[in-house]
Amino acid sequence: MTAPSLGQTGAVSATTWVPLAGAAHRIAVEVLLHGPLSRAELARRVDLSAGSLTRLTKPLVDHGLLVATEVAPTGSRLGRPSQPLDVVAAAHHFVGVKLTGDHAHGVLATLRAEVVATAGRPLTDHAPDAVADVVAEVVAELVGTGGRPVTAVGVSLGGDVARATDVVRAPFLHWHDAPVPLGGLVHERTGLPVVVANDVTALTASTHWFGEGRGAPTFALVTVGAGVGFGLVAHDRLVAGDGTGTGRIGHHPLSATGPVCDRGHRGCATSLLTIGSLTAQVSVAHRREVSYDEVLDLAQAGDPAAHRVVDDAGVGLGRLVTAAAGFTSAPLVVLGGEGVRLAEVARDAVARGMAVDRDPAAVPPRLALQSPSFTQWARGAAVIAIRTFVLGA
Ligand SMILES: [Zn+2]
Repeated sequence: MTAPSLGQTGAVSATTWVPLAGAAHRIAVEVLLHGPLSRAELARRVDLSAGSLTRLTKPLVDHGLLVATEVAPTGSRLGRPSQPLDVVAAAHHFVGVKLTGDHAHGVLATLRAEVVATAGRPLTDHAPDAVADVVAEVVAELVGTGGRPVTAVGVSLGGDVARATDVVRAPFLHWHDAPVPLGGLVHERTGLPVVVANDVTALTASTHWFGEGRGAPTFALVTVGAGVGFGLVAHDRLVAGDGTGTGRIGHHPLSATGPVCDRGHRGCATSLLTIGSLTAQVSVAHRREVSYDEVLDLAQAGDPAAHRVVDDAGVGLGRLVTAAAGFTSAPLVVLGGEGVRLAEVARDAVARGMAVDRDPAAVPPRLALQSPSFTQWARGAAVIAIRTFVLGA
């Protein structure tokens, strides 16, 4: 798509938006996801009269969220040039930070979630103040790179979050006991609006609007990496309860003969599919430390131990995909997470596993693979900030 020339001038007051609701929210989302849109097309999409649309779009244009773009009339010399509405994505920046047990991965993203810069810091101390310090350092580095004011910050992590600010439980950070007011701690240090979310929920949101789920009203997301995650979009809505990640399929049973997880389940999703499980099994077989990428490389090269472990994991992942699609009626399953290269290396095993529990007459779900980069996770955190502070989702 070539960008039309912009007919709008004036300052953008990116930090004064009030989160939108109702029809204004729907208008902003339609333009964000599908713009530029003519006013007639927009009115049709949100089911409003031309008059209502004009009334509702004016404050959005005044605030700089929407702009009227000028498109030169084509064909006839007659008639006024149309002025489709669009957003100027690069005029608004957001920081997303994904926390793991040992690292903070950050991105600076535009209003359309295009990543324009990345930054990261190791996480060596899990004390809440120390974690907030590291997040603030990542934010400070990214704020300096974009040349534009940052509107808001999103932070995502594996665990449960209450009221979009307090971390109730985060196993990778060993936060179990009292809620950690992470959003408040980061806000104190940055002065920016901050939202905190479960990492799989955040990744599901960015996949829905700006990723492999675009245009799919219903899809499931399965992530493999340090843990196993599940996210769901149904009828174009992100299915997520307040304070929780969507579902907990980490211990879903997949094999009667697999290894045993830390809770004593044999062959559950965690015991079969996580990076830690695959590397531990192959390291024992080879009597040395073997990295995850090396496990997958060895399997591809025909190493018997690595091939067996990766093949079993692939079959298990296939069964998990069929379960995810079966329980949700999702015609599309997106596979993501930092361990997702498993699905590529064990492609045949995944296909075999998908067939195990499926009625032969049933249509298998379509699969889409995401990049394993941590940038994907951090981008999800930025999208949660966009949804929360701009669009009022
Ligand atoms: Zn388990």
